[in-house]
Amino acid sequence: MQNYFWMKLSTDRTFRNLIIIVYTMLLFAFSLITSFALSAVQAEAVESQSLPVVVVRHIAMATDFELIIYGNHPEDDPEALREYGREAFVSVDKLEDEISIWRPNSQASRINRDASSHPVKLSSDMLSLLNESERYYHKTEGAFDITVGPLMELWGFTRKQGIQPSEEALQETLKSVGFHHIQLDSEERTVYFTRAGMRIDFGGIGKGMALDRLAAILSNQGIKSARLNGGSSTIIGLGAPPGKPGWTVDIRSPYNSEDSAPVARVTICDEAMSTSSGSERYIEIDNKRYGHILDPRTGWPTSNGVISATAIVSTGMESDALSTAFFVMGEEAVRAYCNKHRNVRCVLFVESGAETEVLYFNFDDEAEKESR
Ligand code: ADP
Ligand code: MG
Repeated sequence: MQNYFWMKLSTDRTFRNLIIIVYTMLLFAFSLITSFALSAVQAEAVESQSLPVVVVRHIAMATDFELIIYGNHPEDDPEALREYGREAFVSVDKLEDEISIWRPNSQASRINRDASSHPVKLSSDMLSLLNESERYYHKTEGAFDITVGPLMELWGFTRKQGIQPSEEALQETLKSVGFHHIQLDSEERTVYFTRAGMRIDFGGIGKGMALDRLAAILSNQGIKSARLNGGSSTIIGLGAPPGKPGWTVDIRSPYNSEDSAPVARVTICDEAMSTSSGSERYIEIDNKRYGHILDPRTGWPTSNGVISATAIVSTGMESDALSTAFFVMGEEAVRAYCNKHRNVRCVLFVESGAETEVLYFNFDDEAEKESR
């Protein structure tokens, strides 16, 4: 009996010691893992905290531009970063002087005045802008067309006062619309309009070009991480913020206030993203709203159930042109386009009966998108 008691006691003790040893080892392993994880998080936090970051703002093209620029090293001078931003904006102002159709002495205004009478000489910026515009015109089968100028005028968008045009006036105006009426001579560096009354309008691509310019200037200065906002409609994410995979951008419903939940959230890294919608600039005719994006093939303001169209690609010019085109094209044509061009990511926010729906194209990774 005593023996048995002694044996039980000793087995219990061994078992207890074993439990203590295993428990201690587990505790040790846990604290090791936690301290590693913590030190990784702390290192990242310290690193991103110690990198200088500046914000530089500027108004151009009737838009609030904003640059968020990170230095590459903790010792980088914030004032130098700010100076890079200010210098970059100087070239955006120069670009605006050339391509604005609202400045009477700009090259764009000269083209609109004279190119129906004779070929007009082009700067290299203007030539490349026209070449790119032609490329997106063909790629989108005419949904993106900078020759919408006469239609913008006809519907009263330029005067910000809507007028319902007669069918006759619409058909007459459509004769002066279509990039195929433009003769672009890249050798001679000239442009010629083959129809009278034609006018180009860079409203759907100019901001993208400005952001590409800003990104190129900052990259040349050695900046590796910056977010470039052209209002909220075109954004370039240069690299990523420290310790993050990319820049997080919310897509908001154009009908809701800024603080309401976004309809989608995407991450961009070395990419440009543009969103087009008809509701931030519009005219009213007989209490009906018409958005500022027109279908150049019908001459009518777009109305196809798309509330907003977002395009994500590698350059600002392309994202700007494509978001405008996608807004015009509607769901099925966008689906076909994105199937053909796998490098183009797109988010469409559409009406679906009485509801709304968010459609994603070419988002391979589920984690890349976050529907709200
Ligand atoms: P935002 O200027 O708000 O970023 P967009 O990039 O979509 O919006 O550009 C809309 C502007 O583009 C219009 O105000 C007009 O100047 C011009 N535009 C309208 N319809 C078209 C079209 N189908 N193709 C090219 N440009 C267009
Ligand atoms: Mg655009």
